[in-house]
Amino acid sequence: MNHGFLKLPHSTHESAYGWIPIPIVVAAHGNGPTVLLVGGNHGDEYEGQIALMRLVRSLDPSRLKGRLIVLPAANFPAVMAGRRASPIDGGNLNRAFPGNENGTPTEMIADYIESVLLRRSQVCLDLHSGGSSLEYVAHAHARRPSDPDRRARTLALIKAFGAPYGGLVRPLQGEPRTLSAAAERQGVDYMNVELGGGGTVSHDLVCLAEAGIRRVLAQLGILPDDNVNMPALEVWPFAIEGAANYVYCLEDGLFEPFVRLQQTVEAGQPAGAIHSPGTPWRDETVVTFERAGMVLCRRFPGWAHRGDCLFQITSAAP
Ligand SMILES: [Zn+2]
Repeated sequence: MNHGFLKLPHSTHESAYGWIPIPIVVAAHGNGPTVLLVGGNHGDEYEGQIALMRLVRSLDPSRLKGRLIVLPAANFPAVMAGRRASPIDGGNLNRAFPGNENGTPTEMIADYIESVLLRRSQVCLDLHSGGSSLEYVAHAHARRPSDPDRRARTLALIKAFGAPYGGLVRPLQGEPRTLSAAAERQGVDYMNVELGGGGTVSHDLVCLAEAGIRRVLAQLGILPDDNVNMPALEVWPFAIEGAANYVYCLEDGLFEPFVRLQQTVEAGQPAGAIHSPGTPWRDETVVTFERAGMVLCRRFPGWAHRGDCLFQITSAAP
């Protein structure tokens, strides 16, 4: 097992020839696929980062059949700041692909992941949470692959991860800038996990993440079955088809959600109210769900601004 740093050159007033140390662990043994495990794509999403740290500390490389490339803190400057985006360049790594080898630090990280690490991988697991602004029901998802074989393999990854929910989604506007899109461009099987959020850490979700990663690695034949310490949950399948699965804030104010995570809602049902402290005599603005589904995520902070996502709901799986 090798561990060290990707050295991202970053020349500043304080450090003319300096580099940013991005930790990386590579473990390989026997014959098998290469899996890229990514935490800290967003710096304020913690469960995946911790689960990958726990995995690398407890890994016995002699039992591997394949290769693991582990990046527990992919956007390292964002991770160290506990923020979604990098404090150096404002870069959101998951909107920076395919990146630029001569670009900003975040663009350089994206380029390295897409053009070097993904090209050496067959499978990529990308571990997210809701971050500071959202709270999610724990689930795994992937953009719906058009190729039926890849779709079957993706669904097998989602099932093996064993979070309570799993779905195939259609990203808004196609979104070519995500790690998910990068994996698709490089022909790599991909799964995204979303766990909790609100800028905090859930011990239960760290345990779910670590067990889920181990189950996926066992399903791929890289780690033996006995490395898994928790059985998979039955995965309730869902889909996300488009804009009607989202509820957005229409004006600035205090967001009062009317529903809880995992609650089933009807089309037209009031989702929440926005109260304007500057004009307290004015009626609140009520936002509604466009379609029926289950509440998969909600905005976490009390303040909301026009354009903020307030809820994401699932559709039934096709
Ligand atoms: Zn994220």
